[in-house]
Amino acid sequence: MNEDTAAKLKDLPRVDEVLAEPALAYHSGRFPAETVLRAARSALASMRDDILEGKITDISPERAAFLALKELRKAEERSLRRVINGTGVILHTNLGRARLSDSAAAAMSNAASGYSNLEFDLEEGRRGSRHDHIGRLIGEITGAEDAMAVNNNAAATLLALSAVCFKTEVLVSRGELIEIGGSFRIPDIMRVSGASLKEVGTTNKTHLYDYERHINEGTGAILKVHTSNYRITGFTEDVSVKALAELAHKNGLPLIYDLGSGLMVDLKDCGLDEPTVPRALKDGADLVLFSGDKLLGGPQAGIIAGRKCFIEAMKEHPLARVMRPGKAVLAALEETFRQYRDPVQAKRNIPVLQMISASPDDIRYKAQRFALRLAQENPLVCDFSVIRGTGMIGGGAAPMLGIDTWAVAASPREISPEEMASRLRRWKDPVICGVQDGLLLLDMRTVADSELQTLAEAVAGVLR
Ligand SMILES: *Cc1c(COP(=O)(O)O)cnc(C)c1O
Repeated sequence: MNEDTAAKLKDLPRVDEVLAEPALAYHSGRFPAETVLRAARSALASMRDDILEGKITDISPERAAFLALKELRKAEERSLRRVINGTGVILHTNLGRARLSDSAAAAMSNAASGYSNLEFDLEEGRRGSRHDHIGRLIGEITGAEDAMAVNNNAAATLLALSAVCFKTEVLVSRGELIEIGGSFRIPDIMRVSGASLKEVGTTNKTHLYDYERHINEGTGAILKVHTSNYRITGFTEDVSVKALAELAHKNGLPLIYDLGSGLMVDLKDCGLDEPTVPRALKDGADLVLFSGDKLLGGPQAGIIAGRKCFIEAMKEHPLARVMRPGKAVLAALEETFRQYRDPVQAKRNIPVLQMISASPDDIRYKAQRFALRLAQENPLVCDFSVIRGTGMIGGGAAPMLGIDTWAVAASPREISPEEMASRLRRWKDPVICGVQDGLLLLDMRTVADSELQTLAEAVAGVLR
């Protein structure tokens, strides 16, 4: 350690000097004394580290008080915060996937803030089941005999395999041995469930006879997995749900279909060629598994829809208790499914469907108006324009589909676009967006009209 460093360490202010600094003393009434003391100590500790690393010059009590205050303010903020999604990725897994509709969010809040008949039969005045709130409704929308919900689709897959296929062989095509991310892999889930995986076919081609020749007394089910986050293209072949269902039923086996995305209505006119849940059931799948927060547009959940006998077995399995969703999630799920009673209304009210089906012209118009507003509010510090972009569904759905979209492009004059993006991210109402070719891009497809005011304030705030 050189002399300068040693001298600086010695000159660091004492804790009581920092606490006596007017800036800190003035604000500290809002926080418990213990918390303020901890913040002051931590400020001094970080200054000490900086001195040792040779990167600090100012070791005044004012500076320590400033750092302590910053930490106190930080501790006041919630950790899990609402953000504005300017990325154009509609089901951004890192940003919480689907946004709920207003009515689903209201149902969630209503169930959470009071008591409810979660497990109480109001007609009979005795104990009921939490599954009853959605089973019949999901059946009505999808055509399934019965349905239940668990915490997510990974849980749904584990439960179905555990309850229906324990100690049996389950046939899966080699082209469908997926990894979804965050350690969800079909072979791993299979191992945990107690079923054993029987791979059939090849990576690019699996024929009906590949399944057929592997069926024996030890076989428990055929599992089809929607390759939702990648596509195998070229010289390929897989077997349709219809043909697989026929084969399974001829051999007295169930066909389980892990569909992933949970699309309920046809969105082909938006370029989205994904299988729907009603179609999969109609084609003969005995159990269809899908996420609540992907293309369904509801809360995080895993939904299992299909034959009553299997659903009953799953409800009684010990894992069902381990994976059961809470009342707030069930309330949001019920409300989301209720909206599908009228598909036109569902497309209008469910944000995920709204964002997917919004026309590029409307988004362009919204971007132009917003760019104009930002230009007026931030003269001389930043230039704004409107550029065409490519959005995505995200969340492991329709990986090859680029969606035509429009973004407001910002080119700040005094800071770099990367610096502006980083300030937006750390703003009190955080904004997440990308930088491309020297421009900061705010994709207007994933920004709600109701968020524009907050977004404008954030932009002005970080340019100030
Ligand atoms: C997304 C997905 C899952 C996992 O669903 P979570 O709800 O994220 O647990 C499983 N299988 C498929 C095919 C998927 O697309």
